[in-house]
Amino acid sequence: MGVALVTGASRGIGRAVAIGLAQDGFVVGVNYVHSESAAAAVIAEIKAAGGQAFSVGFDVSDESAVETAIKTFVAQAGGLDVLCNNAGIAIDGLAMRVSRQDWQHTLDVNLTGAFLCCKAASRALLKSPAGRIVNISSVVGEQGNAGQVSYAASKAGLIGLTRALAREYAARGVTVNCVSPGYIETEMTAAHLTGEKKSELLKRIPLGRVGTPEDVASAVRFLASPEASYITGQVVRVNGGLLM
Ligand code: NAP
Repeated sequence: MGVALVTGASRGIGRAVAIGLAQDGFVVGVNYVHSESAAAAVIAEIKAAGGQAFSVGFDVSDESAVETAIKTFVAQAGGLDVLCNNAGIAIDGLAMRVSRQDWQHTLDVNLTGAFLCCKAASRALLKSPAGRIVNISSVVGEQGNAGQVSYAASKAGLIGLTRALAREYAARGVTVNCVSPGYIETEMTAAHLTGEKKSELLKRIPLGRVGTPEDVASAVRFLASPEASYITGQVVRVNGGLLM
């Protein structure tokens, strides 16, 4: 049985990924930064279904916390095979009004956070017979979006990080890929996915609906599976056809 760590697994997409990977037989580390009780509920759900999970609270942008927590989790779980860098935030605002602080905070969590987790997890992943990293980017990182300059930059950065690491780790059999979701119904998008905004958006999505966290989790589960062993450095889009 493999071991997986999912960052930002207390809610939304990360929660669905954690539950899905547990269904696939992984022992799952459920990371969160604030929502301890929501993370505990995810763990309870996994355990009720017969799976195994650990609570792994840390801020992905805090280097020493990342190192300590990942080291402890790897020791507890007996290794690490899959790292899913899902934790993310969006601080929206027109570029002219975005503060340096908000820009930096977004990059710290979304991009530097993923880098720090990859770094801290590397030793264990390289020891795994089938190491996998799956980073959650975004359609916004691929095509941009007005009012999301820092978010778009952080998510585009994740694609570069993915491809560089994919090349670096290929010889050791570790694959590194991105999943790039379109608009998915979670707390992050709740404000964007109502009323007129939602109907305007739906007109641009060929499949005619927004995505669910499970739609994204399916792609992560596939990339984490043995069937995906020849896929690396790729960006798998889960966006209903919004961007082709
Ligand atoms: P969400 O519902 O807002 O959940 C965000 C998750 O990230 C929570 O579990 C949160 O933990 C965690 N998190 C935030 N900052 C963290 C930090 N510093 N350290 C550790 N964990 C942290 O978001 P979501 O919609 O599920 O999005 C998940 C990922 O998918 C994000 O990277 C997002 O950018 C990406 N994405 C989402 C969409 C979409 O339409 N929803 C589209 C494309 C990409 P706490 O609960 O403890 O705060």
